[in-house]
Amino acid sequence: MEQRLNCNFVQDILPNYIEGLTSDITNKAIQEHLATCVDCRKALDSMTREMQETKGMKVVQQKQINFLKKIKRKQWKIAGINVFISVIVLFGALYFVSNRDFPVSSTNVTISQVYQMNDGSIHYSVSANVKGYISYISRIFPSGDGESEIIRIYEHRRLFSNQSKGIVLLPEKWSSLPDSNANKEKTVIYYEGTDKNDKIIVWMKGMDIPKATAEQEANYKNFRDSK
Ligand SMILES: [Zn+2]
Repeated sequence: MEQRLNCNFVQDILPNYIEGLTSDITNKAIQEHLATCVDCRKALDSMTREMQETKGMKVVQQKQINFLKKIKRKQWKIAGINVFISVIVLFGALYFVSNRDFPVSSTNVTISQVYQMNDGSIHYSVSANVKGYISYISRIFPSGDGESEIIRIYEHRRLFSNQSKGIVLLPEKWSSLPDSNANKEKTVIYYEGTDKNDKIIVWMKGMDIPKATAEQEANYKNFRDSK
């Protein structure tokens, strides 16, 4: 005996039918019922439309979510790059201010043991009150008819160094006055600190300085012999 399906039952099951979740036998029964029932056909129509709209919405929503995710990813990327650059700039600046060579002011430099050797060379000793590492430079520059010997000391300042200031005594120096290469003579020897006006004259032509003692001459001879 053929059992006619009840409209309530058909409409209950229609969503599953539209989704293709119902069995072949059920499908056949539903189709037979729909062929004869206007109400259920209308219900099927509206349900189908509704479900398609919902699905469409979901697709649109998913697209929007993906788009937002993309933007967010992009923003994170930009933010990351910004942070990266900032960190590099910051460390660069820190390195720049903390790890440079600073000229040592003449107030932190002491010149001592200035005397003249028998051969005319000028002897002097330099000590500096500095933190840690220093570099010591002595260069000859032409000045007028003669030459100047300029001494400079640089402190390798480190921002996070816990090194305290201390007196550093530099190797004693004998400076010969004639320059065999340029056929010129030194007329001045001075220490130059933070700028051209920050200087200590060690010796100048015409300056009256002590003559070396016999012991100092012996040291000088030892120094020259060891070279
Ligand atoms: Zn019906």
